[in-house]
Amino acid sequence: MDVNEFRRAGHAAVEEIAAYYEKLQLGGEGFQVTPSMKPGDLFNKIPETPPNEPTPFEEVQKDFDKLILPATCHWQHPSFYAYFPSNATFESIIADMYATATSTPGFNHSCNPAATELEQAMTSWVGQMLGLDASLSKNGVIQTTASDGAIIATVAARERAIKYLLGKKDSPYKTREEIHSKLVMYGSTQTHSLGAKAGLVLSIPFRAIETYAEDDWALTGASLEKAIQEDQSKGLIPFMLISTIGTTSSGTVDKLSELCDVAKSHPEIYIHVDAAWAGVYLALPEEREKLGLSAVNKRGEQDGDLTYGEVHSFCTNLHKNGLVAFDCSTFFIRDSKLLTEVLDLTPPFLRNQAGYGQVTDYRNWGLSLGRRFRSLKILFVLRSYGIQGFQAHLLRSIEMGKLFEEHVKEDKDFEIVTPRSLALVVFRLKPANRSLDEEALNDLNKKFYARLHKQTSIQLTSTIIGKTFCIRFVPGSPWTKAEHILAAWRVVRETAQEELATLQ
Ligand SMILES: *Cc1c(COP(=O)(O)O)cnc(C)c1O
Repeated sequence: MDVNEFRRAGHAAVEEIAAYYEKLQLGGEGFQVTPSMKPGDLFNKIPETPPNEPTPFEEVQKDFDKLILPATCHWQHPSFYAYFPSNATFESIIADMYATATSTPGFNHSCNPAATELEQAMTSWVGQMLGLDASLSKNGVIQTTASDGAIIATVAARERAIKYLLGKKDSPYKTREEIHSKLVMYGSTQTHSLGAKAGLVLSIPFRAIETYAEDDWALTGASLEKAIQEDQSKGLIPFMLISTIGTTSSGTVDKLSELCDVAKSHPEIYIHVDAAWAGVYLALPEEREKLGLSAVNKRGEQDGDLTYGEVHSFCTNLHKNGLVAFDCSTFFIRDSKLLTEVLDLTPPFLRNQAGYGQVTDYRNWGLSLGRRFRSLKILFVLRSYGIQGFQAHLLRSIEMGKLFEEHVKEDKDFEIVTPRSLALVVFRLKPANRSLDEEALNDLNKKFYARLHKQTSIQLTSTIIGKTFCIRFVPGSPWTKAEHILAAWRVVRETAQEELATLQ
C-alpha cells in the first residue's frame, strides 16, 4: 500500500467505523449487544493456513464487516451494562490512529521524547482533575491495566519491606530469602482478582480479609489489625494491602482512613489503592468525600526515607468510565524511587553517565520495555471535553444508574441488594407474594440470570456478595439515554415474569 492507497483505504475505514457507530446507536437487526454465534463460528471461517498470495486490500478490508462484527460483543452499544463500561470516544480513537502512525516503542526518553513528556504532563492533568495531592499527581505513569499496576505496586512494596526489615536495628532477619519466605499480602474478600494474581505471579500468599454486610462489605481497620496480629503471631510478615475504592461486585469503598491508621503501627506495610472503575468519579467534587479522597491524600508518618500509614500508590482506569479507549490505566506513586530502584536495569557503570536520571525513563516504572504511546488519547479527550465535559459524562452515568434503580425499587418483586454506588446498581428478584428462603432465592436468581443472559438486546453480569447471588447493572456509555434504560428495565421485568411463571 502506498501513501495514496492508504489515503483511500483510510477514508473508507473511517466511513465504515462511523456507520458502525450509527448502527450501534440505533440498535436493530444484527446490532444487538451480544453476537448470535456459537463458539468456534469465527475460528472455523478463518483459513487454517496463512495465504500464500497477496490479497488486494479492498478485499482484506471487507473482513471487518464480514467476519469480525458478527462475532463481536459490542461494548460500545448503549445497552451494554455488564462488567464495567469501557468507553471509546471518537477523540480517543483518532488519537490512537495518530499514535499508531508514529509507532514508537517509547521505552525511554530519548527513543521518543514526545511519548515520555506527554505522559508526564497527562498523568499530572489526570491527577489534578481527580483532586490527588501533588505528591501523587506529579508521579504518574500509564500502565496497561489495573492488574499490571497491582503487580508493579507489589514489587515496589516487597522491596520496600525487605529493605526496611534488613536495615532495622535489632532486626531478627538476616537475608532477603528469609524475609521473602514469610511475606503475606492483603486484600479483602471483595478485592478484584488482581490481588490474588499479583500474589501468584510473585509467589507471595494473598490473604483475602473477611468483610461484612453491616459494613456494606468494606474492609475495616479492626479487621485489618486482627489479620496482622494473627499472621504476625504465626511468624509471617504482612507487608502490603490492596485497598479498593469501588469494588467490582458492589462498588464498595474500603474504610481507607482506618486502614491507614492501622498501618501507622506497622511501618513495613505499603498501601496500594485500586480505584480501577470508581477513581475517575473523583473528578466530581461532590463525590470526593464518599470515595475517601481525603484519606488518599493524607500524609502519614516518616522515618528517614520511609513513609508509612499512608497511601503509597493509587490506580484508576481511564479506559473504563473515563472516555479513553482501551487501554489506559493511570498509576500514581508518591515515591517513584520505590519502582525505579527495583526495576531499573541500567548497569551501575552507566548510571554515572551525564544525563542519567535527568529524564524519566518509563521502562523503569513498569513490566515491559516497549510501551504504547497512550497519553495522546488523554490529551485529545481532556482538551476536547474539558473537565466540565468529563464531569457531565460522569454525572449522566450516575443519572442513568439512578433511573434504573428507581424502576427496581418501585417493583415489589425485586430488591436492591447493596446501596447503589455511583452508576452501579446491584439487585435481585425477590417475589413479594412468596416466602422463599435464601437458598431458594439464590436458585431463582441464578435461573433468572441464565434466562436474562440468553437474550441479546442487553447485557448484564452477575456476582455473589457474601452468600447472595445478585445481578449488576452498570450504565456508562456516552450513548446511553433514558429510553435505553427504560427498554432495559422492560427486558429485565419481562424476563423476570417468565421465570416467576415457572415457579407455579
Ligand atoms: C476493572 C477492575 C479491575 C481490573 O482492571 P484491569 O485494568 O482490567 O486489570 C481491577 N479492580 C477493580 C476494582 C476493577 O473495577
